[in-house]
Amino acid sequence: MKKLFCTLALAAFATVSMFAGSKVIAHRGYWATAGSAQNSRTSLRKALDLNVYGSEIDVWITTDGKLMVNHDADFNGVTLQNASYDECKNLTLKNGEKMPQLKDLLKVMKKTKSKTKLIIEIKTHSTLEANQRAVRATLKAVKKYGVENKVEYIAFSHDVCLELVRLDKQAKVAYLLGDKTPAQLHQEGIAGIDYHIDVLRKHPEWIKQAHDLGMTVNAWTVSDKAGIEEVNKAGVDYITTNEPVLAMKLTR
Ligand code: MG
Repeated sequence: MKKLFCTLALAAFATVSMFAGSKVIAHRGYWATAGSAQNSRTSLRKALDLNVYGSEIDVWITTDGKLMVNHDADFNGVTLQNASYDECKNLTLKNGEKMPQLKDLLKVMKKTKSKTKLIIEIKTHSTLEANQRAVRATLKAVKKYGVENKVEYIAFSHDVCLELVRLDKQAKVAYLLGDKTPAQLHQEGIAGIDYHIDVLRKHPEWIKQAHDLGMTVNAWTVSDKAGIEEVNKAGVDYITTNEPVLAMKLTR
């Protein structure tokens, strides 16, 4: 009964007019398929092949300024933000690939004809200084490969979001944590809310508020049929999901 109420509450705030269905973002790439692994070159390529809206990755900076692509802070006992590149370069993913650097994925983006964007999540490091280094290094790498129009940025750290928009006025940045109103973020130059489905259930009014301000709305991480249908009906622009093929079917 509670769930039904939430569903109806979300639906009541749906942007009904001209809404063509939510677009799909593959969470950590398309990895729930043979030969793939989360945050790998393969998971990016497979997402590009699907032509989904976006393929999401997570980025940490090493002590010597390299950007490693991995979700967790630690991998096989190595804490990426406290390690040198030398300590990270041979870390091996479940599918046998070496852990990629951001630049490896930017090279793939530069070459691809796919419309899929790379959604770069800059992780929350243990110091403000490391967060700011990660932002600067990420923007520099994106510029170096000339893929500014093929990437967007997300972060749980409000500081990271502010630094991104301060250093790159064109960057499309969305905030993940779920504790700020669209109005506040809009004032700060942040282009979207990218919130957990439960936050949007609690604050369904934020969907319309964001849209009225010209902001985008993304729900994460929604991988089951009922959840995908619920947020699609609610009119969110993007659904971040571990099941991109299912989400594409349900939202078209
Ligand atoms: Mg992420």
